[in-house]
Amino acid sequence: MTAPLPIDDHTQLFVLTGAGISAESGIATFRDAGGLWENHKVEEVASPGGFAANPELVWRFYAARRKAALAVIPNAAHRALAQLGSRLGDRLFLATQNVDPLHQKAAEEAQTGGQLRSASTSIICAMHGELFKTRCSREACTEEPFYDERCDFEDLPRCPCGSLQRPHIVWFGEIPFEMHTIKRRVQACSLFVTIGSSGAVYPAAGLVREIRYRQSQGESVRSVYVGLERPENADSFDELHLGRATEIVPALLGV
Ligand code: NAD
Ligand code: ZN
Repeated sequence: MTAPLPIDDHTQLFVLTGAGISAESGIATFRDAGGLWENHKVEEVASPGGFAANPELVWRFYAARRKAALAVIPNAAHRALAQLGSRLGDRLFLATQNVDPLHQKAAEEAQTGGQLRSASTSIICAMHGELFKTRCSREACTEEPFYDERCDFEDLPRCPCGSLQRPHIVWFGEIPFEMHTIKRRVQACSLFVTIGSSGAVYPAAGLVREIRYRQSQGESVRSVYVGLERPENADSFDELHLGRATEIVPALLGV
């Protein structure tokens, strides 16, 4: 039985989630997929070079992922985080590497769920972008990214400026969004939790090292990992809780 973490009125909680938290909702992790899609390397469909070479293939890949994501619902781990977020408000900062909408859906459920309604909501930072957002591929364009559920395209989608639109996703070789805010929140947290991330994708995998550094400076801060197996950065964590996210996360968060 997992003992709940000590979360009180002073806790500043930073949570980093990866593909493992959505696995039990039916979204394949990077490893499950074997790094391939329809025999194309994931790099071909998820990199700026891949988009330049074959935007049609890239859009087919993301359209298929959008369709799959429309059919899934949040699981007990997403819901536990959302419920805790209703209680902690902006003292919970949730950075997700996932591009699926399951944290956002769980937060909406918690907000409309009655008793758990709260004036402030936790912060969800989609550091690798969002599957249901699109933006212009021309960097200098001033059009904003927008919510987009389109899954079928007769022609490649174009921005009003004439350039091709692209998925609002951080691809291989691109820098995650809001890294400045993320680093600031890691430096200010009192509890750092990672859920379902293999610890192989940087810079997300390196965030826990900041906790080690702060501990070396005498600060009181704790780091915890939850996932099926030891992540590659396991040595940087104070505690590992190995198992399924839906079983461990609700118990650990005490919700
Ligand atoms: P990853 O696929 O590299 O690792 C997933 C981790 O989750 C593994 O360590 C695995 O052991 C663990 N896991 C699997 N099932 C689990 C479960 N039921 N409970 C708890 N843990 C479980 O994922 P990553 O570290 O997030 O990095 C992969 C990259 O691919 C990221 O950049 C991410 O943006 C992207 N990606 C996103 C999604 C999504 O949006 N849901 C899915 C696949 C990949
Ligand atoms: Zn444009």
